[in-house]
Amino acid sequence: MRSDILPLCDKHFRTMEPFSAPYNADYCIDFFRCTAQFCRRCFSERLGYVTPKWGEAPQFSSQQPRCDYHSRPMFISSLDRQRNVIHYSCPEPNCRETAREDILSGSQAR
Ligand SMILES: [Zn+2]
Ligand SMILES: [Zn+2]
Repeated sequence: MRSDILPLCDKHFRTMEPFSAPYNADYCIDFFRCTAQFCRRCFSERLGYVTPKWGEAPQFSSQQPRCDYHSRPMFISSLDRQRNVIHYSCPEPNCRETAREDILSGSQAR
């Protein structure tokens, strides 16, 4: 995961913070979580945006943009509130691939 940009929550557009969770005895997943209270939204490099539930396989959206080069789920790097456009970046360091989504007419309009 790159360290120059922090992902934003796809619900609140707040900066997420790095977090490490024990998955089992010898494996740990690194992900980012939203800093808003009660928001359990996380971004994981492998899955993209997920809301983890204990003891359940994470549900992730197939509509998330993916990097063409790395086929990784991309994260929201910035929000242009004036144009209502969100910008996505690839989690791979130094990858310049970006995507944009219009939040008024896009799938996140509601
Ligand atoms: Zn959030
Ligand atoms: Zn990439």
